[in-house]
Amino acid sequence: MREYDLETLRQLKRGELPFEKVHEMQSSHKDRDRFLKMLAIAQESVPWNDRILLPYAEHLYVVEKPDKSRVVKCDCGYEFGDVKQNWKLSALVYVRDTKEKINEIYPDKMGCDPDWMHIREYICPGCGVLLETEAVPPGYPIVFDFQPDIDTFYEKWLNQPLSK
Ligand SMILES: [Zn+2]
Repeated sequence: MREYDLETLRQLKRGELPFEKVHEMQSSHKDRDRFLKMLAIAQESVPWNDRILLPYAEHLYVVEKPDKSRVVKCDCGYEFGDVKQNWKLSALVYVRDTKEKINEIYPDKMGCDPDWMHIREYICPGCGVLLETEAVPPGYPIVFDFQPDIDTFYEKWLNQPLSK
């Protein structure tokens, strides 16, 4: 098992490592130590102080607030509310439901038929970054990606139970 130092992992996050190195790192066993280091790097890269419990998606984290509540938070600081709620309900949504809107992002005829499929883009109200897109049939409920079992993860896998 390879372990990587903090500086190497920082370079990975910034996209500064050569392809062979990234491939080697992604192929190797992802150990606990590595997770904790990545967490430390994420923590030092955000401008706020809430403790990051888990990276949730690109730009999004599950953080612990001073009152021990857990919320989904963008790296810009915008909070989407309790982790048990779907963060997308607090996001800005842009729906591509016409040929014109779909063709803005897909070259001709590569996009979906708006009668069958819409593209929803979820955008952070705080910084405007595109957080996620989903392609769904018109009227389909908002997809709730996943509900992490944070306590079990910290207890069983990291061996570092969270205080409540
Ligand atoms: Zn944001």
